[in-house]
Amino acid sequence: MHRSPIKHCKNCGTAVLYRLPDDGDTRERAVCPACGTIHYENPLNVVGTVPHWGDRVLLCKRNIEPRWGKWTLPAGFMELDETTSQGAARETDEEAGAQFEMEDLFSVMNVERVGQVHLYYRARLLSDKFNPGHETIEARLFTEAEIPWDELAFKTVKETLVCYFSDHRKGAYGIHVIDIA
Ligand SMILES: [Zn+2]
Repeated sequence: MHRSPIKHCKNCGTAVLYRLPDDGDTRERAVCPACGTIHYENPLNVVGTVPHWGDRVLLCKRNIEPRWGKWTLPAGFMELDETTSQGAARETDEEAGAQFEMEDLFSVMNVERVGQVHLYYRARLLSDKFNPGHETIEARLFTEAEIPWDELAFKTVKETLVCYFSDHRKGAYGIHVIDIA
């Protein structure tokens, strides 16, 4: 899941060198020796939802790598022309073909190891019929007891589900900020 290092300058195509820039920056950057362009690399946002229907939550069985065949909440990389909420809704539509109403932000997770920030919104399902896209083998609802905890694709999904069912039992939903080791 690590991103590959930058190899060539996006401006002129020359092979870059990783070094401290001359401007006092304290991190090594991909610097172009020809035109001087400094390429900054920053975390990417992954946005998704916790779609719920009564006591159950919608999970999708992945038809793509990584973690093919494992279960996940609908989520994916945020695009440039959308808000976090719009991106989460788009992923939910693409991966599950669900009808839903977006609700509040639920979890924010720093996944420092891979340079990502994951944001999940709650989403109230308006139907229990799904029409999953090509990235999903199967989309179905699970109660807390039915969740395939050992077959979840990502730790972020597990942490979000643990928080969700805990809040659901209390009948009050917070915003959970979690650092994933
Ligand atoms: Zn260059």
